[in-house]
Amino acid sequence: MPKQINQIHDQIFSRIDSTEASNLVQDMVKIQSVNPPGNETAMANYLEKKMKEIGLDVHLDECLPGRSNVTGRLKGTIGYPTLMLNGHLDVVPPGDKDLWSFDPFGGFEINGRIYGRGSTDMKSGLASMLLAAKALKLSEIQLKGDLILTGVIDEEFMGRGAKELSPKGISADMVIVAEPTELIPIRAHKGLVFFEISTIGKAIHSSKVSSKGNEGEVNAIYQMCKVLTKIQEHLINLENKVDTLVGNPTISVGTITGGSKTNVVPDRCSITVDRRLLPNESVEDAKDEVKKILQQLSKEDPRIKTDLKIITSRRGAITNPDEPIVRLSKEAAEEILEKDVEVTGSSATSDMEVFVNQDNIPTVLLGPGSLGMAHITDEFVEVNQVVNAAKIFAIVALKALG
Ligand SMILES: [Zn+2]
Repeated sequence: MPKQINQIHDQIFSRIDSTEASNLVQDMVKIQSVNPPGNETAMANYLEKKMKEIGLDVHLDECLPGRSNVTGRLKGTIGYPTLMLNGHLDVVPPGDKDLWSFDPFGGFEINGRIYGRGSTDMKSGLASMLLAAKALKLSEIQLKGDLILTGVIDEEFMGRGAKELSPKGISADMVIVAEPTELIPIRAHKGLVFFEISTIGKAIHSSKVSSKGNEGEVNAIYQMCKVLTKIQEHLINLENKVDTLVGNPTISVGTITGGSKTNVVPDRCSITVDRRLLPNESVEDAKDEVKKILQQLSKEDPRIKTDLKIITSRRGAITNPDEPIVRLSKEAAEEILEKDVEVTGSSATSDMEVFVNQDNIPTVLLGPGSLGMAHITDEFVEVNQVVNAAKIFAIVALKALG
C-alpha cells in the first residue's frame, strides 16, 4: 500500500479506542431492548445521544407505536455516493436466567471480553458503527458521499424496522449490516418459511375402533405419522440442492400437537415445520413443494386430509460478487486481519434480505463476534473484534465515499 494511504489509515485507526469500544458495548448490553415485546426506545435514545455527540445529523422515525428507528448522517461534500452501516436495536430474550453464569444484562468486561445478552448480536456491531463514524469525523477527512448509520427495531421478529427505512426516504447505494460474522464479509444468506401442517380426522369413541375404520373413524395422529415420514424423506432431496455459498436447504419438524382425550379418536393433529430456503428459492416454491407431498399422500389414501398454512417467512438474499461493496469489504477485512479473506454465505436470516429484496441495494453482512455466540447463554464478544470492525467500516467508507 502507498505510504500516504497508510498514513491516512493510521490517522483514522488512532482515533478508535478500545476502552471506548468496550464502554459502548457495556452500556448497550445494560439497556434491555428485548424483543418480544420490543423495548427498543431506550436503545434508540442512547444511539441518538451518541450520534449527536459525534456530530451527525440525527433523527428518529417511529415505525410502530413507541418504537423508533434512529438514523445519523455524516454529510459528505456532495452527498453521493452513499454508504449505510446498519444494525438492529433489539435482542432476543435471555431465556432462563438461572442457566447463565452471570446477569445477562450486567454488561461487564473481563480479559478483553464483554459479556451479556446482545454483546455479540448485535450491540457490538452498533458500537463499531459509532466508532467508525467518530474516527472519520475526528480525522477531518472530507468525504464526498454521505455515511449513514441506521439502528432499526424488530430484526429479531419480523424486520419491520428495516422495511420502514426506504419508505421514509432513508436509503443508500450500498449497505453493510453489522451482524456477527467474525469480520468476514458475507454476500448471501438463507431464507426461511415456517409451516403449520394439520391432518383432519374423524372422531369416535375409542372403544369402537376397528382396523378397517368401520365406524368411519379416521385417526388424525396416525395420518400425521405418514406425513412425518414423507417430510423426513424430503430432507434427502433437499440435501442434493447444494449452493456453494450457503449450503443446502433443509426441512425440520419442530412441534407436534394432537388429540384431546385418551378415549377419543383424534380428529386433528398439527405439526410446525421449519424450511430453510436457498437465496434464490421463493417462499411460494417451498410451499408448492410441500403441497405436492401432501397431495401425493391423499392420492395414495383418500382418507388423508390435510391443511397447509404459512406461519411466517423471510426471504433469502444474495449480492452479486462484482458489486463494489463486496470488493471493498473484502479488501478492508484483508488489510485488518492481515490474511486472505474469502467472501462467503450464512445460514441465518437477517435484515440484509430487506435491503436486497425490497430496496434492491447491494448489501453485505460484516461485523464483530461470531454467529455461534448469538442467542445463546453466556454470550460474549471480544473487544478486539469491535475495534477491528470499526477500522474495517472506516476503510470501506473512506474508499467508497472518498
Ligand atoms: Zn442479529
